[in-house]
Amino acid sequence: MNGGRPAPMGNTPGGRPFLGIHYVKCGTYGRIYKNKEGTAYVGHCPRCMHTLKVRIGPEGTGTRFFKCFCP
Ligand SMILES: [Zn+2]
Repeated sequence: MNGGRPAPMGNTPGGRPFLGIHYVKCGTYGRIYKNKEGTAYVGHCPRCMHTLKVRIGPEGTGTRFFKCFCP
C-alpha cells in the first residue's frame, strides 16, 4: 500500500474535484468542476447561466471557495 502508483486524474468517480461558488448577485451557491484538461474549474451560475472559469495555477489554488459576481 506504500507503492508510488500515481492515481489517474480526472477519472475518479465520486471523487471529482470541485470548487464551491457563492454567486453573490444571484444569491445562490453552486459547484464548478475541473475540466478534462485539468487546467481550470468551469461551470455556470444555476440562476442566470453566467459562465464561470477559474484557472488552476502552477501551484494549484489553495482556495476552495470563490465568489462570483454575475453581470
Ligand atoms: Zn448568476
